[in-house]
Amino acid sequence: MKYIFLAFFFSTSFFTRAQQTDVVDFTSIELKLEIASELKRISGKVNCTFDILKETDSIYLDARAMTFNSVVLNEEEVETYNDGKRLWIKGDFKPTDKNKLFLEYDAMPKKTMYFIGWDNEGQNQIWTQGQGKYTSHWLPSIDDMNDKIEFDLNVIFNNDYEVIANGKLMDKHIGKEKTSWSYDMKQPMSSYLVALAIGKYDKKIETSKSGIPLEMYYYPGDSTKVEPTYRYTKTMFDFLEKEIGVSYPWQNYKQVPVKDFLYSGMENTSTTIFSDTFVVDSIAFVDKNYVNVNAHELAHQWFGDLVTETSGTHHWLQEGFATFYALLAERHVFGEDYYYWRLYEYAQELLAQDKAGHSTALLDPKSSSATFYKKGALVLHLLREKVGRTTFNVAVKNYLEKYKYKNVETKHFINEVEEASDEKLTTFVQRWLRDKDFHYEEIEYHLRASSNLIKGHLQIDCEAYTSKCEEYLTSWIADESKIKVIEQMPNRIKAEDFKNSIKVRQAIAQNLTKIPLGLKKEYESLLNDKSYLTVESALYNLINNFPSDTRKYMDKTKGIVGFNDRNIRQLWLFLALVTDVYPEQSESFFKELTSYTSPKHHFEVRELAFQFLKGMRSCNEECTKNLEDAAKHHNWRFKKSAKELLEQRQ
Ligand SMILES: [Zn+2]
Repeated sequence: MKYIFLAFFFSTSFFTRAQQTDVVDFTSIELKLEIASELKRISGKVNCTFDILKETDSIYLDARAMTFNSVVLNEEEVETYNDGKRLWIKGDFKPTDKNKLFLEYDAMPKKTMYFIGWDNEGQNQIWTQGQGKYTSHWLPSIDDMNDKIEFDLNVIFNNDYEVIANGKLMDKHIGKEKTSWSYDMKQPMSSYLVALAIGKYDKKIETSKSGIPLEMYYYPGDSTKVEPTYRYTKTMFDFLEKEIGVSYPWQNYKQVPVKDFLYSGMENTSTTIFSDTFVVDSIAFVDKNYVNVNAHELAHQWFGDLVTETSGTHHWLQEGFATFYALLAERHVFGEDYYYWRLYEYAQELLAQDKAGHSTALLDPKSSSATFYKKGALVLHLLREKVGRTTFNVAVKNYLEKYKYKNVETKHFINEVEEASDEKLTTFVQRWLRDKDFHYEEIEYHLRASSNLIKGHLQIDCEAYTSKCEEYLTSWIADESKIKVIEQMPNRIKAEDFKNSIKVRQAIAQNLTKIPLGLKKEYESLLNDKSYLTVESALYNLINNFPSDTRKYMDKTKGIVGFNDRNIRQLWLFLALVTDVYPEQSESFFKELTSYTSPKHHFEVRELAFQFLKGMRSCNEECTKNLEDAAKHHNWRFKKSAKELLEQRQ
């Protein structure tokens, strides 16, 4: 009866009251967390401090599927109601500062905190992803990003693991079996940025020019990959701090790769978590590296973490800025051509979106990622060109300083630019932020006028001028343009065109699939290139075109693994099995390929193995069992592809 009554009381109260952020302000949350990894169960003790801003009869904390064993308000037990999503606390609250709330809870987080490898002797990890989920699945807190709270995490976990969380490690106490790790934050943040990562790691530490420790985590077996993975980290950090003009706002900057991550990277405050598919050797670096994601998540430490959108309408203030500043950092490393080429690519993607009828306004909260990230970056590029770099930088600095540790809307930024430039931006805002249409011609005009690379590139049209195009590949034009030529006329490639850079040769490997006998020798040389994409395409195309030389090509590429998804090794096993060039080993090769479907492996390894086995119609019992397991995976893209494969089988 009590609960039914309370449910009624609390639900009416919920619907009639103002937003909780107007009524109560949580200022700090201290968590002491113990994790039983095998059971995927957590238990925590939380000390919160909050101010009451307006008289109210109830407050809440978001808390999903949690059991509370004790709730003490200002040292007294209180009446509570737990609706499975929120813990409501009833009381006669008057405006007061520094109220204390103590909670003790248990939970088995369904999402937001992920337990990797504990069921299958894999690489054991625990990590969190707050954005797009709810931190209240593992930590009673406020899911509304407009309440910024200082979070201090203390985590007790098995010895021999590293525990990484937001802020500075103040204390590490090693007990007989468990170690207690105490992290301290000095400033508040939105709860979606709270993070925890646990696993076996070593770390490399550098220090920024301004004295901030840059901690780069890696798996103990990956020491040779540290340099290529984290290449340019310090350079980009120093550059961004100077360019933004506001000191890095947190005590340190940690980057942690994890297995089976949901996205490329996530900019948790002072603790970026990223997918370990970006942990690369120096060959993989050529085709797939962490530089852009590294710069993007770092830029978010200011744009997103220091100042945070009030709602999705202003999402470009996070993603547009992070994309734009990442590009500025990359320009510092790779040069002007790189910068303009990326902007040009962004514009092409947005043009295609526009042609498909999917353009939306930048301020539409339902916009695509392309709009938030890439249109956002292009708009900032245009704005910076319009008001000039110095003025733009003054505006950004004022904007960040005025709203630091607070929430922001587009008008706050625009006001600062108007003030710094003494210019009204009404027309600009209408055209680029509010208008649904994408004004491609205007962007192209700007890029053409600013960059010779883009200007030259736009003049190339091989469908119209074929004879001229043949000369392009041995001329001075940029690699990006040569790649466009190859894509437009792969069958006109000549022997001397192979004398180009590794990227242009890669385009040849990928586009010239029917190899003329006269180019056989040149094409075979692609197998020596230091690019896993090039070798993958070249191996496949060579065997397809010259089957009698299969054994020669296979022997040559036998030991190559490729990217983290083992692209070359898996293709190699597939080719060995379908061509049967090593008949005596086919059983062990099949076993190896099937073993890659196991949950012990990264989902990208598994995805590729499923595809090859499906291509051979050879997904056996073990593979099918692993496919059924994959159809329940936490990564929705992988789960979807596994489900589709399962359906095709039935
Ligand atoms: Zn981002």
